[in-house]
Amino acid sequence: MKRAVFIERDSLLNLATKGGQQKSPTALEEFRLNNSALHALQRLKTSGFILIATTNQPEISRGNLSRRDLDQMHQILRAAFPLDDILVCPHEDDDHCPCRKPRAGLFHEAAFKWHLLLGQSYVISHRWQDAEAARTIGSLSLLIDSPWLGRGHHDFVVRDLDAAVDKIVDHCSHRQVA
Ligand SMILES: [Zn+2]
Repeated sequence: MKRAVFIERDSLLNLATKGGQQKSPTALEEFRLNNSALHALQRLKTSGFILIATTNQPEISRGNLSRRDLDQMHQILRAAFPLDDILVCPHEDDDHCPCRKPRAGLFHEAAFKWHLLLGQSYVISHRWQDAEAARTIGSLSLLIDSPWLGRGHHDFVVRDLDAAVDKIVDHCSHRQVA
């Protein structure tokens, strides 16, 4: 059994804001990597974590984003970063699917596929939906400070992705002693 770090894709791995609003890229030419994430991801990989990006992409269902463009975006992500997997919910609210975050379907899918210990895994995001999913699956949540934290449960709020990784590495070392 392995431990994972789940990472929200938009704004953490690629740039996804426009004029202060959240805006996922809907075409390949809008896709911009967040290169500053590389060092943090490498540290997590060196610490032995499975790294899994998760993302809600309702524009697939709405017909505003093609599967082909999404697949190409994810090829770019996999080439740039040491990710083990990228899991996507392509649905919108009205679909009532089990995988649209804050629901935990993507995380359960990952746990099954990668044989993960969710109770020893971590979720990093800048949005409350991931913290809610983390609570459901029993993983620790680290939210990067943003306007989208909401008022629900989360375990830690941190300044940036590097601070999130510091917290995880520190938390793990205590866990192994205990
Ligand atoms: Zn879904």
